[in-house]
Amino acid sequence: MIIIDAGSGIRELGNFMMGHDLKKGPIKTEIFLTHTHWDHIMGFPFFTPIYIPGTQLRLYGPVTHEESLERIVGGQLTYKYFPVRDVELAAKIEYIHLKEDRFDLGDGISLVTKYLNHPILCLGYRFECRGKVFCTAYDTEPFRNIFCTNPDDPEYDEVVASEGQIVADEQNQIIEQFIAGADLLIYDTQYTKTEYEKSRIGWGHSSHEDGVAAARRAGVKSLALFHHDPARTDAQIDEVAQRLLIPENTGDVKVFFAREAMEIEL
Ligand SMILES: [Zn+2]
Ligand SMILES: [Zn+2]
Repeated sequence: MIIIDAGSGIRELGNFMMGHDLKKGPIKTEIFLTHTHWDHIMGFPFFTPIYIPGTQLRLYGPVTHEESLERIVGGQLTYKYFPVRDVELAAKIEYIHLKEDRFDLGDGISLVTKYLNHPILCLGYRFECRGKVFCTAYDTEPFRNIFCTNPDDPEYDEVVASEGQIVADEQNQIIEQFIAGADLLIYDTQYTKTEYEKSRIGWGHSSHEDGVAAARRAGVKSLALFHHDPARTDAQIDEVAQRLLIPENTGDVKVFFAREAMEIEL
């Protein structure tokens, strides 16, 4: 079993594993954290298997040099925040720092990791197994030209502006190579295009339109739009879906909005 991230959803998953997996023997699992923003780690203290003797957990994730995953994730379990301390956990937990690389996970599964565009180190994961590819790109924003592109602005420099664009295009192409041909891609699309362009540029998230466009260029087969804005209601998601999910937008990509507890056939 491979788990990506430990947001609020991992609580339900832990309860499911307690009911289904524990009967068959001790729980052994691996959690791959894309990054350590709180919405991606806040469920960890509520993941019941960590309190069960015999559980073996490997927790992977990217961190900068001076930090440790154990302190950031396990550190949520201190008396300041929580009634149980991480040193009291019954499970055997191994914390493993990840960088951009390629790994053999055994059982015929390989993993490629790639840094995305987010305010802190954040990894995309590309799992490959028996010819199928499953990719995650959250949290991420398209790279953009960080230099002034308005010729009327006194700061404008034509050479600098064009080089800035070349770098942004190259970085976006690298991400598209990373997700290329995925059977399933899960992509951060927190905003609508209008919301993004109005006031969310540089926040580290993408629009629905960005996600669909990247998936089309990369020849992705199925795309799950994910990391919905927490303020958006189910009815609003349906509205966006109705407007966006038409063949002229989605092309050959099967696009859908990810929902809690959704099962996806590959
Ligand atoms: Zn984030
Ligand atoms: Zn996030």
